Amino acid sequence: MPDSPTTNKNAIWRPYCQMKTAPPPLEIVSAKNFTLQTADGRALIDGMASWWSVCHGYAHPHVIESVAKQLEKMPHVMFGGITHEPAERLATRLATMLPADLNHVFFADSGSVAVEAAMKMAIGYWRRRGKPERQRFLSFDHAYHGDTTGAMSLCDPDRSMHSAYGDAILSQLHCPLPKDPESENLLHEMLSRHQQEVAGVFLEPLVQGAGGMRFHDASTVQRIRRLCDEHGVLLIADEIATGFGRTGSMFAIDTCEIVPDIICLGKALTAGTMTMAVAVARSEVFNAFWSDDVGDALMHGPTFMANPLACAAANASLDLFEREPQVQRAREMQNQLQAGLSPCRTIPGVVDIRTRGAIGVIQVETLPHLDQLRQQFVDAGVWLRPFGDCIYVTPPLNLPTPFVENLCSAIVNVMSSKRFTTSDAQTITPVAQAGLRPSSR
Ligand SMILES: *Cc1c(COP(=O)(O)O)cnc(C)c1O
Repeated sequence: MPDSPTTNKNAIWRPYCQMKTAPPPLEIVSAKNFTLQTADGRALIDGMASWWSVCHGYAHPHVIESVAKQLEKMPHVMFGGITHEPAERLATRLATMLPADLNHVFFADSGSVAVEAAMKMAIGYWRRRGKPERQRFLSFDHAYHGDTTGAMSLCDPDRSMHSAYGDAILSQLHCPLPKDPESENLLHEMLSRHQQEVAGVFLEPLVQGAGGMRFHDASTVQRIRRLCDEHGVLLIADEIATGFGRTGSMFAIDTCEIVPDIICLGKALTAGTMTMAVAVARSEVFNAFWSDDVGDALMHGPTFMANPLACAAANASLDLFEREPQVQRAREMQNQLQAGLSPCRTIPGVVDIRTRGAIGVIQVETLPHLDQLRQQFVDAGVWLRPFGDCIYVTPPLNLPTPFVENLCSAIVNVMSSKRFTTSDAQTITPVAQAGLRPSSR
């Protein structure tokens, strides 16, 4: 944005951004279907679906129409002591879609706040079950659960923002995912040792997102469920990124065939239109708060909780999941991304190429000149935001095959002219620290 009497360059304090040194952000003036229109007249294929959220593409007519109707009727009304049809319908639909008795939907206004609400549900559950000392959480290496202070405490302490805030962050327990017998033992020991103080285990099932774009198998998730049962602690599935078809099933827990005690959903919930998330509890958790004592209520209530516009968008999105084969498309995209990105294997410094559903990741030894790389992708007609040691795509689930091919070939072309080996890097980003640092996600 040029400096002018109406725009002050530093009026906006930007996310994950060193304001002093970062290049100016890209100005987008409109977004339609699968492309972002830049202020300087370019059309970019969006490889990010705006941080996983735009699952049906931008400005889907059904979503727009539903939100427009709701806008005329009632853009907002407070949720304390009030209810409305869009929220009732959405909660009922989510409860029906989710397995078993994951039936009690708490509306939050962002993913991080849904995680905070889930933490309060779990801590409150144990207080009401006579175990008030259970108020810590265990999460896994490379975890990412959000940016608010409670959620931040659940992120991987070495690869997140812990170091920037020190002792101001709650102390939680962290260990590797139990992918093999050794790490399974470690989790078992940790839960045994801390059983009396652990309220719950937080897990991103199948895919860890902003903490490093790492995948694990259903068997790992099943192992965690079993260990939580054995030690009598709650399991909270954070499906804010993986929910709504992203991994090739509606929810990752469907693939894993497990039922968590609480599940958090967000990002694609409103098809990338408005900010809303939910924490959904099973009856066992919900019932702990069910009493004649008002002091037993769940004390949380964001101002814009269950915003009717956001609910209308979410209901429209669920209509599209019912009408169109979005989840199947995500499954098909896995092979298309694998085929399209595989030429990168021979590029110096490429460590791994992995795909799951509509997620493609190219992991490298090091990503030098990050800002320059982003600009080269823009020049090649695609919008990507590489971070840490990953170049990754999470496009709209219904991105048509020719777009997937163009996206992949742009990545291959840009990367082919470069090297990503640690020894070649002029400015080395230490991979060990590069997971999620300020100015990275
Ligand atoms: C994005 C994300 C969050 C935080 O959601 P916000 O809406 O950004 O607050 C939490 N957990 C996971 C797994 C996420 O991907």
